[in-house]
Amino acid sequence: MRHLVWFRADLRVADNPALYEATAAGCDVTAIYIDCVGQWQQHGRAPIQRDFLSHNLQALALQLAALGIPLTVLSADTFVEVPEQLAAWLEKHPCSALYANREVGIDERRRDKAVQQRLVDTLDIRVFNGDCVFNHGSLTTQSGDMYKVFTPFAKTWLAQLRATGYRLLPVPDAQGQPLSVVEVELEGTRVSSHAWPAGERAGAERLALFSGQALCDYGEYRDYPAIEGTSSLSPYLALGVISPNQCLAAIEQELTQLPMSRGEAGFVWLNELIWREFYRHLLVAFPRLSMNRAFKPDTEALQWSHDTAAFDAWCTGNTGYPIVDAAMRCLNQTGWMHNRLRMIVASFLTKDLHIDWRQGEAYFMSRLIDGELAANNGGWQWAAGTGADAAPYFRVFNPTTQGERFDGNGDFIRRWLPELAEVPAKKVHQPHDWLDTQQLGYLYPKPIVEHKRARLHAIAMFAALKDPP
Ligand code: FAD
Repeated sequence: MRHLVWFRADLRVADNPALYEATAAGCDVTAIYIDCVGQWQQHGRAPIQRDFLSHNLQALALQLAALGIPLTVLSADTFVEVPEQLAAWLEKHPCSALYANREVGIDERRRDKAVQQRLVDTLDIRVFNGDCVFNHGSLTTQSGDMYKVFTPFAKTWLAQLRATGYRLLPVPDAQGQPLSVVEVELEGTRVSSHAWPAGERAGAERLALFSGQALCDYGEYRDYPAIEGTSSLSPYLALGVISPNQCLAAIEQELTQLPMSRGEAGFVWLNELIWREFYRHLLVAFPRLSMNRAFKPDTEALQWSHDTAAFDAWCTGNTGYPIVDAAMRCLNQTGWMHNRLRMIVASFLTKDLHIDWRQGEAYFMSRLIDGELAANNGGWQWAAGTGADAAPYFRVFNPTTQGERFDGNGDFIRRWLPELAEVPAKKVHQPHDWLDTQQLGYLYPKPIVEHKRARLHAIAMFAALKDPP
């Protein structure tokens, strides 16, 4: 009998537990991907990510064909249709077992439960952990609960790594003669992702380049958006084109051993991978995070602003704060944004414009090539002060000093705001007076809010939660 591997956000043949286990069982293996264009739209995901998905599916089909495994791409509208689609397909192509890697979002988990209920009498269903080094739910406090802040989670994660190491699975052996490849064509709006070469080979090359050249300097350069100091692997990790175990293996290969504490070479980057896992474990432990709810329930009472003009100015990069505007225009044009900038613009939207983090989260999702519920939700709630974070609510980024610190010469700003190209470095973070003296004030908007006042308002919003009027 045949075994079926159901690919989802794990578009790779290397280090793929579901694929590996299905092939290890010694039966014929066939693969499926179920594309849900309506669900994609409901989740508000970006056209550029859809294009990247399409190319990565094509690359996966190629890799699988070389292993003698056919990939069928089915189309459904939403997850609701998936159990019946799968059942109908299985009637025509009988299989004895279904292999898949777990996903973290509540809609995906509900879909899987419905599939389980629909097919439990027909075939054996086996699920694996393919998106994290350690499975969701496996790292808990002594009382068995998920951690609510990062630092103790990271400590336990590292202790587990020390105790058990990580498991990296090879590409399975070929199952037969190479097959010819079908063309994958996804429906739905797409924006070209050509700047990001698709496929696990491209992901692996990027990982090797980063770990060989930039890993050791990451701690020093990672906060400067004008420099390529980070890995840019997020689009690949978001679709599962590469795995976190492969990232650990690359660190180990470069440094001969994994860094286990702050101060060791490579640790700062490893720590970011732990943040990724933290948010994924959180999403599973707290389903409300997938349902537009705040991690801190009391913050649901925050009185957000509904200023649509201010929101539009933020989206289009016209707030009059150069670092915010350059970051947003970069996002709009490329589908990607540097982490430091994500923190700055998210803080600006929530703490300077007092606009609900959910609006920013959704806008990011609609634009990002690496859009991914766990990290996006985690990042937004962290910035807004509603999330799993130990920082005090009165932490408010100053967009001007952030720009001065992390883009001192204004190189990043000038790249994305050509209207500020002539402004001297010393003036570029507050260019308005200089532009006025040159009679160029019309080129760039005046600040839409005064940061000092907006900060006090944000603090008052949070203080009111503790001490309601
Ligand atoms: P590197 O710095 O090289 O880090 C390596 C990998 O670690 C990343 O590719 C990513 O998978 C993971 N990672 C790094 N930082 C974080 C973090 N803070 N939280 C979770 N994972 C992290 N990341 C996404 O992948 N998708 C998102 O939709 C997303 N939305 C975000 C929204 C906000 C408001 C904020 C503040 C952060 C968000 N992040 C998101 C996290 C982070 O900004 C990106 O992962 C990072 O900028 C990607 O660049 P990189 O691949 O060069 O990362």
